[in-house]
Amino acid sequence: MRIDAGASSDVGRLRPGNEDSFLVDDRLALYAVADGMGGHQGGEVASATAIEALRAAVAGGQALDAAITRANSAVFEKAATDSALTGMGTTLTAVAILGESTLLIGHVGDSRAYRIRDAALEQITEDHSLVEELVREGRLSPEEAKVHPRRSVITRTIGIDPDVQVDLYTVDARTGDRIVICSDGLTTMLADDEVLRIAQLDTDPRLAADHLVDAANEAGGEDNITVVVVDVLEAPPPGAPDPEVLALEGRARTPRPKAAPDLPTMPEPRRPKWRTFGGALMFVLPVVLIVGVGFGAVNWYAHHTYFVAFKGDDVVVYRGVPGGILGWQPTVETTTGLRRSKLTQDAIDSVKASGKGSLERAQQFVANLEAATTTTTTTTTSPSTTVPNPTTTRRSPPTTAKGGP
Ligand code: MG
Repeated sequence: MRIDAGASSDVGRLRPGNEDSFLVDDRLALYAVADGMGGHQGGEVASATAIEALRAAVAGGQALDAAITRANSAVFEKAATDSALTGMGTTLTAVAILGESTLLIGHVGDSRAYRIRDAALEQITEDHSLVEELVREGRLSPEEAKVHPRRSVITRTIGIDPDVQVDLYTVDARTGDRIVICSDGLTTMLADDEVLRIAQLDTDPRLAADHLVDAANEAGGEDNITVVVVDVLEAPPPGAPDPEVLALEGRARTPRPKAAPDLPTMPEPRRPKWRTFGGALMFVLPVVLIVGVGFGAVNWYAHHTYFVAFKGDDVVVYRGVPGGILGWQPTVETTTGLRRSKLTQDAIDSVKASGKGSLERAQQFVANLEAATTTTTTTTTSPSTTVPNPTTTRRSPPTTAKGGP
């Protein structure tokens, strides 16, 4: 099993700060979302503490449920040391690789894990929330749950009690599966069918996570929104490591070491000392040259590749490769003046599928898009006139919004 994963997190449109945290650790093959709660900085501290304790415990060789229990203790102990943090807590939903075709999901709270397979969405985790428990008991309908005044009350939390009960799910995974881990800021804003549709818009998990966060914001963004998308890919054929080719595809990932327990290490053999400076140079120089040329080629590629995408509501031309490449993140080359909210669904889909290439190609694509947009609207705005963006602060919360739950 090979994994490619990406994440996106946003404060939303109403909350003053982002109390969600997430983890994408390809080396540990560990992916998680935590949604913190508690006054002052409590929520932020709780979710970040839980994520770091989880990561450290798994890195130290602990099983997933033990690692989540450890995260609970870490948050509980931290809350006890500082009166400003009293009562802080967090959800925690984590995905780990268990074998060649099995995922293990550990879960506490009302964040969620979904599996998308064959264009169908399946919710794997059960919410530990008051309304979901009432729904399961048949005392509340799903429709009533959506608008219930106490729908944000959760019944199981990391960090509130010294002990915690962790739900564990063993999930089979096969090539093509996409796992979506998210905080409730996504699922309270979007129905399951919308989550499914938007999660499938892009093959790149990073962009899929971005699209989901953007959609939750467009639907109101009432809470912090965090999404981690984990794709199960075909394992590479044996003996075919081709990092350069992968890098040029813009999907360079460090190959993940096989999930195996740490083997006892052998004492390191003494390295032969280089007898002469010339001998060392003969060995080092070709390596430096190869690395330098490779780096230069990727650098050139990253800076001579352009693509069209959404940045919030704006259609922009990026320089770089979607998702970044070897540390070079795409930068905005031009903002076109086109807005997603003014585009047809077909036009939105065409932007998402537009791919990457030369600057000329990107500019031609934008010109076509502008032409198509002006013929489908009744306004008399000249296509060459760029309309100033009146709401460039869409991601900032309104100044009147105060306080969390
Ligand atoms: Mg939340």
